[in-house]
Amino acid sequence: MHLFRKKEILRCCNCDIVLNHKYKSKPEWEMQGFLCSSCHIEKTKEFILRQQDQKEKLKHARNICTVCKKELPLESDKNKARWQWNMEHSSILCKSCFEKKAQEYEKKLNYCNLCNNRLGFIRYNPKPKWNIEGQLCRRCWDKQREIRH
Ligand SMILES: [Zn+2]
Ligand SMILES: [Zn+2]
Ligand SMILES: [Zn+2]
Repeated sequence: MHLFRKKEILRCCNCDIVLNHKYKSKPEWEMQGFLCSSCHIEKTKEFILRQQDQKEKLKHARNICTVCKKELPLESDKNKARWQWNMEHSSILCKSCFEKKAQEYEKKLNYCNLCNNRLGFIRYNPKPKWNIEGQLCRRCWDKQREIRH
């Protein structure tokens, strides 16, 4: 029989040992309750490793060309996609994919989509129902209108 109110026994939420000294788990560990010192050390290590692992993975994703998936270990191999290209903001491209994209974009911007002639200052947008991407020169635009009329 206990005459005194039994002191609440705290157990380590990881190994179930009765705690003399309790250690708080960190919120980011997503555990409930307290830990013994050895579990606390264990969990701290585990969490640091997990964080490093995630960082490593993230770094790895940033080391791959978004287009051809080639590895880009060198900082100088990485080319950020231009915002005009309509790619994901964080896209990293290898040199050749970057140049290809730049060329494609340049072409779309400066050349007639049908005859490949360089567009002058005035350019013509194809009508949506024509289903033509990019822009057209005057001649091709007139021709399209004639054909499709
Ligand atoms: Zn423990
Ligand atoms: Zn590439
Ligand atoms: Zn044209």
